[in-house]
Amino acid sequence: MQVPLLDLRAQYAPLKEQILAAISEICDSQRFILGPKVEELEAQLKQYCSSVGAVGVTSGSDALIIALMAEGIKAGDEVITTPFTFFATVGAIVRVGAKPVFADIDPATFNIDPARIAEKITPRTKAIIPVHLFGQAADMDPIMALAKKHDLIVIEDACQAIGAEYKGRRVGSIGDYGAFSFFPSKNLGCFGDGGVVTCNSEEREKKLKIFRNHGQSNTYIHDYVGGNFRLDALQAAVLSIKLKELDKWSAARQKNGAEYDEMFKAVGLGDVIVTPQKAAYGVRHIYNQYSIRVLNGKRDALKAYLSENGIGCAIYYPLSLHLQNCFAELGGKAGDYPVCEQTTREILALPIYGECPREQREFVVATIAKFFGK
Ligand SMILES: *Cc1c(COP(=O)(O)O)cnc(C)c1O
Repeated sequence: MQVPLLDLRAQYAPLKEQILAAISEICDSQRFILGPKVEELEAQLKQYCSSVGAVGVTSGSDALIIALMAEGIKAGDEVITTPFTFFATVGAIVRVGAKPVFADIDPATFNIDPARIAEKITPRTKAIIPVHLFGQAADMDPIMALAKKHDLIVIEDACQAIGAEYKGRRVGSIGDYGAFSFFPSKNLGCFGDGGVVTCNSEEREKKLKIFRNHGQSNTYIHDYVGGNFRLDALQAAVLSIKLKELDKWSAARQKNGAEYDEMFKAVGLGDVIVTPQKAAYGVRHIYNQYSIRVLNGKRDALKAYLSENGIGCAIYYPLSLHLQNCFAELGGKAGDYPVCEQTTREILALPIYGECPREQREFVVATIAKFFGK
């Protein structure tokens, strides 16, 4: 049996005609940049994310960068974030010239630990970027309290978490900004690269729209140096159609996650496998990934064994960001963020996508049990 980590073809098949018709309509109009399709998507996303503003952009990476640019964050400023995230979170901070400052993670949720953030705040701190990793919200109340106390901007990296909730509130509507990615492997993916940045005021929304278009406030009048961060109409049209299915897809992932939890429990691997923990603070977890911890130093051997048996799995992420070559001059060393570093040695993502058949997931668990001699 072959079990891919992700297969998007089953999701596409029932929408194919509708999507091709929408693409054809845009090709006929020959209007590809921004325009009504992007505006329609932005209106839908504001509603879906419960945010005041939503501005379509080129990618999740650019959603982070444009939020930092709109706040004027620059060289000499510090931005606190997690060392356990996709590279783009930290890359965005460095690309605007600011200094990333890391705070270690909570071992249960893999998300930034608010108690560790408090220790890192200095007079130069301008913002906090919590990441809602794997589709589960970070602990936002203490983060927002710290931000209020120290007058900091909060940019939620919600790239893996569209529709996720924290205490009943949608991610991307809690901080000042939310960055979302429509990379194909996210719960809501487009047919290429795309993203959206949400925000909590109309003023910020207006500024983001100016920054998205080279800082242009009126035709060829530039108030800022922005960039070309425009979402295109083809991606927006695809996303508008797919957004209507998103809750169904996320529910299928939740069901698959719950079934994995039961299967692992039934097979009795509790001493070697830790299944994903639901945060105690109350969340709607949308399971962009189902990432287990593999204890006793067996992760890499298990991953190789699963691959030999035709099972797709992946390590998100194998190296803490403070140990990346490109950040060497920040002076990070092994041992600085022990919880994150241990997690990078234990984490393993299994196939969780909505259409993944039950018998394939049963095979995944049975193969893991076999590896451990159960
Ligand atoms: C995917 C992702 C990004 C970047 O999104 P792109 O659309 O690929 O640029 C940023 N942060 C996190 C946590 C992500 O998972």
